[in-house]
Amino acid sequence: MSIVAIVGRPNVGKSTFFNRLIQRREAIVDAVSGVTRDRHYGKSDWNGKKFSLIDTGGYVVGSDDIFEAEIDKQVELAIDEADAIIFMVDVEDGVTGMDQEVAELLRKSKKPFFLAVNKVDNSNRVNDAMEFYSLGVEKYYTLSSINGSGTGELLDDLVEAL
Ligand code: GDP
Ligand code: MG
Repeated sequence: MSIVAIVGRPNVGKSTFFNRLIQRREAIVDAVSGVTRDRHYGKSDWNGKKFSLIDTGGYVVGSDDIFEAEIDKQVELAIDEADAIIFMVDVEDGVTGMDQEVAELLRKSKKPFFLAVNKVDNSNRVNDAMEFYSLGVEKYYTLSSINGSGTGELLDDLVEAL
């Protein structure tokens, strides 16, 4: 089964999105020994295509240095392990330095990734999302993990890539 990982800074809404998508949670302990505390695994499907979903993060933020190193580690793991990556950012915060760093890591990898601009809860925020083109993507997806709007467009293209 294909594996999809969700990466991004803390508080952008990764877990909210993950919880919306998964049907049942499962621990894949053997395959990821030592890193399970940082990651949640679930199963989902869309348009009849099943996939495993990894929610990254959940670690304690100690300092800015650890924080950046942890995110880098999660992105490297996702690049190694996943068939496709959802890179989530937050329209309320706009583009941050950490977003640029994650985008750089993903661009250098050969993995398909999908930029999800989260917290676009209403149409007023659609224009605000345009600044995320500066991350060097041809396309991004605006969505709201809280109310579910926009998630279908992202999932349509995501499962095509699996
Ligand atoms: P994570 O750290 O990336 O896993 O982020 P969480 O899923 O824990 O969400 C962080 C905060 O953002 C929580 O207070 C969520 O309720 C909020 N949040 C998540 N998705 C949305 C959204 O689509 N719109 C808004 N307005 N808030 C959201
Ligand atoms: Mg989380």
